[in-house]
Amino acid sequence: MELQENEYQIGGISINEIAQKYETPLYVYDAEQMQLQYSKLHNAFSKKCTVKLNYACKALTNINVLRLFNKMGSGLDTVSIQEVWLGKQAGFEAQDIIYTPNCVSMEEIDLAVNEGVKINIDNLSILEQFGIKYGNSYPVCVRVNPHILAGGNHNISVGHIDSKFGISIYQLPHVHRIVETNNMTIEGLHMHTGSDILDVEVFLNGAELLLDAAKDFKELDYVDFGSGFKVPYKPNDISTDVESLGEQLGDRFISFCEDYGKDLMLMFEPGKFLVSDAGYFLATVNVVKQTTSTVFAGLDTGFNHLIRPMFYDSHHEIVNVSNTSGKERIYTVVGYICETDCFGWNRRMHEISEGDVLCFKNAGAYCFSMASNYNSRFRPAEVLIHEGKDYLIRERETMEDLTRNQVEVL
Ligand SMILES: *Cc1c(COP(=O)(O)O)cnc(C)c1O
Repeated sequence: MELQENEYQIGGISINEIAQKYETPLYVYDAEQMQLQYSKLHNAFSKKCTVKLNYACKALTNINVLRLFNKMGSGLDTVSIQEVWLGKQAGFEAQDIIYTPNCVSMEEIDLAVNEGVKINIDNLSILEQFGIKYGNSYPVCVRVNPHILAGGNHNISVGHIDSKFGISIYQLPHVHRIVETNNMTIEGLHMHTGSDILDVEVFLNGAELLLDAAKDFKELDYVDFGSGFKVPYKPNDISTDVESLGEQLGDRFISFCEDYGKDLMLMFEPGKFLVSDAGYFLATVNVVKQTTSTVFAGLDTGFNHLIRPMFYDSHHEIVNVSNTSGKERIYTVVGYICETDCFGWNRRMHEISEGDVLCFKNAGAYCFSMASNYNSRFRPAEVLIHEGKDYLIRERETMEDLTRNQVEVL
């Protein structure tokens, strides 16, 4: 989004025009930005080794976005059988889908076997049940928890000692016992330590532990280093230096493959890195309310549509796209939900009038996909900007959507 002739644009189209055409609240995605992020990450590794990116689709599951990633050559990282089915519907081949669930039933895993996708097992109980049932007839991947603490937020940091994710690296002897007893084939090893890993150093430490474990599995095809790529939310935030990671991990991986005696595939499963900054959320200011302590800007949306600030304190830059010049004032930006739902305190913005459209940045990942109907509001529409054109890719909901599955018995 650049400021051109005093007007904000997404993919070359004026945000004000989009807001008028589709109304608010509205999610808008820039396909080109997704492609740029994908290429940036892919290029950082592809010079060195065979790399495969599997887009972690829980970040944003609109089928058009899935198709876009499929076209780029991406695979798909899924965490539920429904995401597997969505991926199939979007055109992904079974071998390009990896299924990494946590705490799901053996029945759901059986369904994934039926679909023929790669399966990533994250606990000993399921590993054993899987081994007894499928033996060596269906190779699987094992999710290892290397116990490195990544990032600042406990809710999104999943690699620490008390985390429910993965099989502890200290339990690998048990893994080997299950694998040998049931004659299983382990085709991949995986770690995912969580979102917002700040620096390359921490990542490399985790990777070292995973590679050390990988030596002892003799039939691997790939090693999956998960995700955790950080994206900047504020002007001075740093993002993961993927070029440096590509250099260092790429070299380390090549030397590992030489020792291992086979060219393995290096995999990642980024969500946020690929779609976060491609997304914008537009909302209209319903009310400007001066209180004794602050000025509230009250929007036609709330945490039902964008929960990240309230859920895990994430910061989204907010700009007033209706007034791009002149006096700036300090605002507290809030939603219309009948609970405290604050998007941002003390935000400096060009003076807001009722009816102005505000634009939230970094609204591509975990925004629409976490939206709900709380307060019986309709979920927003979604628009994709692709090659200079705007496409409606999800209609705004209606009363029919709210009552669709309700059974009237009284
Ligand atoms: C959520 C998730 C990801 C994606 O994480 P991002 O921080 O969005 O990149 C990757 N792998 C697994 C297993 C996940 O659960």
